[in-house]
Amino acid sequence: MQPKLPEQKHTPKGIKAWCVYCEEEREFAWDDRLGTARCPFCGITVYDFYIRQVNGLWHDGNMSRFERTVQKQGRRWKSVKAPKKT
Ligand SMILES: [Zn+2]
Repeated sequence: MQPKLPEQKHTPKGIKAWCVYCEEEREFAWDDRLGTARCPFCGITVYDFYIRQVNGLWHDGNMSRFERTVQKQGRRWKSVKAPKKT
């Protein structure tokens, strides 16, 4: 997968963050096994370098807050079904 970096940095809102692989804002889902948030469509985690860079998800930034929010409000990773590619 090749990341596509948007021209502007993105600020995560609630459980939404910018996915550089989907090139869209996605509602992230919580993966209990990995203990982190993932894009339900492509499966990338918020520990991906480009995801962190675009969304400002560093430990002194939005990371802990975003992870807590997704854990509380997001869907569970397992229950998420990726849509078929067209
Ligand atoms: Zn994605």
